[in-house]
Amino acid sequence: MNNRTFRDFSLSDPIVRALDALGYTHPTEVQNKVIPRALDKSDLAVRAQTGSGKTAAFGIPVCEMADWAENKPQALILTPTRELAEQVKEEIANIGRLKRIRATAVYGQQSFARQQAELKQKSHVVVGTPGRVLDHIERQTLPLERVKYLVIDEADEMLNLGFIGQVEAILHALPEDRVTMLFSATLPRDVEDLCDRYMKKPIHIQVEADESLSGRTDHHFFVVGQDEKFDLLQDVTVVENPDSCMIFCQTQERVETLYTKLESLRYPCGKIHGGMEQTDRLNVMNRFRRGEFRYLVATDVAARGIDIENITLVINYDLPANAERYVHRTGRTGRAGKSGKAITFVTPSEQTLIEEMERSTELEISKAEFPPRDEVMRKKAAFEEKIRAQPMPKAHKSDPLNRGIMKLYFHGGKKKKIRAVDFVGTIAKIDGVEADDIGIINILDHVSYVDILNGKGPLVLQAMKNATIKGKVLKVQEAQKGE
Ligand code: ADP
Ligand code: MG
Repeated sequence: MNNRTFRDFSLSDPIVRALDALGYTHPTEVQNKVIPRALDKSDLAVRAQTGSGKTAAFGIPVCEMADWAENKPQALILTPTRELAEQVKEEIANIGRLKRIRATAVYGQQSFARQQAELKQKSHVVVGTPGRVLDHIERQTLPLERVKYLVIDEADEMLNLGFIGQVEAILHALPEDRVTMLFSATLPRDVEDLCDRYMKKPIHIQVEADESLSGRTDHHFFVVGQDEKFDLLQDVTVVENPDSCMIFCQTQERVETLYTKLESLRYPCGKIHGGMEQTDRLNVMNRFRRGEFRYLVATDVAARGIDIENITLVINYDLPANAERYVHRTGRTGRAGKSGKAITFVTPSEQTLIEEMERSTELEISKAEFPPRDEVMRKKAAFEEKIRAQPMPKAHKSDPLNRGIMKLYFHGGKKKKIRAVDFVGTIAKIDGVEADDIGIINILDHVSYVDILNGKGPLVLQAMKNATIKGKVLKVQEAQKGE
């Protein structure tokens, strides 16, 4: 990173304070290049390595430019997977927390009606997968006339055959007068040319290798017969003894099989692939994010964009289908300046393929010898101890941001004709409390939630026990976690 700080951009105070709380003091290289141009409303095609902070590179300008008073969505962000939509929504919500920016995620296999209800409220930023976004557009539950920013994350994936039809349909439905930004760690030349069709004089930004971020992941491969892979996996995990590890397989069936085998050996593990129920998928990602288990067995559905702190090892149990996928899978480790290790299992006939990947990715992927028997034996005890121990839960980067925030629950909502201004009017009159201390307000039919910021929650809670809103005293208490 460098000596510039986020205060050097013309960003408003609530955004800078949120970044501070998240521990983002210095912009990364890609953020340095993107933020000023995005604030200038240029169309951008951006290629920057995995883990370099691309989400905030678009998230910061999107939150900065959003007009809080406007109820309709002003930015639409497209992602290839549901888990990534959820993660990007979280990042936007964190960056915009103190400006009270509301972000909504929409994706398939989740209640349409619930998403519709959320979209009906203030929703400044919508993050979604193309299919479900299109559904909402077609059913007129996602108004687009105020959208000023379109972001396509993982752009090369989004413009491939599987998605392009849907993405084009969305593009046609959006206002012409908008900013379009594309991001990926891999943007092959022909895809960049394709991008030009959707953009106005786009600026192409490439961050070759962020000095402070590059070279942090060691890449190795083993040549191994298909039948020996599982034995090798055991030896490798014993020797590496990772805190957090992702293991990629080629198909859903192979994920299932490997997961079952690891589970029977009592590895603390989880699995994710596209054939699972959505609630199970989100659940397993959340548990892995919190550090509840150490090994996640996955298909490529978890290869793109997923950001989990301190994944120290990525294993390609099966060779990825192409060089781009290699980059994305292994990019789950060695993020944000941390170091990582990537190990790929290659069958003898696949050796030329990994060598091609090495050339086209310009990474150094070196051939390694199997861990020697005595090393495996020597390290076995420490390994056993770690897989049996309860892992330490991981702190989340938004914890400090949320620390000063108390969510209050009021027994009363739309049916009592209560509006956000009624809360703001009453709460801001409390001694020692200002309008700036009031965060996101969520008014449902019968109840309402109000975030109180800056540690003023207890004060407001006490005062509101006797204060009236629209002439009524509403029952108030601290909301339960997760409400
Ligand atoms: P990319 O999309 O480029 O792969 P992400 O946007 O997922 O990368 O960011 C990778 C990690 O870097 C995230 O954990 C994020 O919280 C962190 N990060 C982003 N910007 C900064 C910053 N300016 N300072 C410190 N950490 C940052
Ligand atoms: Mg990303």
